[in-house]
Amino acid sequence: MDPLNQVRSCHLLCPKERYEKEKEHTKPAKISGQSFQFNYRIVKTSCFNENSNNLHSLFHCSKKEGEEIFYDTCENCHMKIETDTYYFCSYCNGPYHKECVESPSIYHSSDHPKHPLQLLWSEQYPNSRCCSCQGYCPFSCLLYYCLVCDFALDVICSRKPISLKIYNPKRHKHTLHYFPRKSTLACDVCGLVDDDYSHLLYTCLLCDFFVHKRCIDLPYVIKVSRHNHRLAFTPSNPFKESADCGVCYQKIDINYGEYSCVKGCIYAMHSRCALRRDVSDGKELEGEPEETYENTKIFEDKGDGVILHQGHPCHQIKLEKQFHDENKHCQACMLPFYGDGNVYRCMQSCDFILHESCAYLPRVKQFMLHACSSIDPRARVYHKLLHV
Ligand SMILES: [Zn+2]
Ligand SMILES: [Zn+2]
Ligand SMILES: [Zn+2]
Ligand SMILES: [Zn+2]
Ligand SMILES: [Zn+2]
Ligand SMILES: [Zn+2]
Ligand SMILES: [Zn+2]
Ligand SMILES: [Zn+2]
Repeated sequence: MDPLNQVRSCHLLCPKERYEKEKEHTKPAKISGQSFQFNYRIVKTSCFNENSNNLHSLFHCSKKEGEEIFYDTCENCHMKIETDTYYFCSYCNGPYHKECVESPSIYHSSDHPKHPLQLLWSEQYPNSRCCSCQGYCPFSCLLYYCLVCDFALDVICSRKPISLKIYNPKRHKHTLHYFPRKSTLACDVCGLVDDDYSHLLYTCLLCDFFVHKRCIDLPYVIKVSRHNHRLAFTPSNPFKESADCGVCYQKIDINYGEYSCVKGCIYAMHSRCALRRDVSDGKELEGEPEETYENTKIFEDKGDGVILHQGHPCHQIKLEKQFHDENKHCQACMLPFYGDGNVYRCMQSCDFILHESCAYLPRVKQFMLHACSSIDPRARVYHKLLHV
């Protein structure tokens, strides 16, 4: 429907008009450690007053059932307008969310109970990441902001109250409570610290348990590309010996959770490393039957970066970091070692050498790599292995 045929809601102002005449304030601030002058305007009123000009005529519009609007991106927050009612400014020639127009200038949010949030406009905020949806707000938009804490909440999320309590007995036996203060407390599941409100924190104070909201629902059993067996999430366990992470090779702090082999190999990963996109697809496999190849060991982990690989069963092979030798070829994929990547190399004097990633490939994937008709003589070890 043509927005201009709609009823004009004359008591409300277009969001642009709300800040245009406001005075600019300045405050020294930092973005990623870099100092800058934070220029902002305090958005005071949403209604017509004696200072308002008549340029921005705002119309209240409603979509008919099934009707699509031509421009469906809000001029303030640049997000899609999904609701049936919205506003249209004839001067800006674009639509606005109801929330973006009707936002009060001060907002008391349960996401940030310590201070009331102020509706600001700025070209660049010290923190433009909405604490609720984790999305970055566009430049030059109205945003709820705490100038004391650099806490940001976008106007749309301000209307969706957060869950103050979450009960997920699998993650923790007690109800978890929202912990609103900016802190340097590490999450007990991923071991990471976020001191910039980038991830909401929940806690059980009885048990001294802290967890990011995003970590509450992490999978319990996953398949990773670097180990033959599935890995299961294991909470902090002081009686366990700490292992090196199979991805970043740093020691895993036993104070936090980790993913470790379900078949009892001494093999574990940091939660954050195990869920990297190049390591696992993050799919929950708890209760799912194992694929047959997952039972087939292609190598045995001997610890300290040493494995016994079926492609070279006579000797153990050891991890070497930053290997570069264009004249040598990986026995699995046949590619030379151009980059300074990690390799597994025979600990005796044989020439057997594999890319680290090729050594971990499960047998099924190794079959896929292998083209039998034009076998390269250097691939003979794998050829033999695959035709056993
Ligand atoms: Zn909007
Ligand atoms: Zn306008
Ligand atoms: Zn948001
Ligand atoms: Zn605050
Ligand atoms: Zn976490
Ligand atoms: Zn508890
Ligand atoms: Zn790691
Ligand atoms: Zn294992």
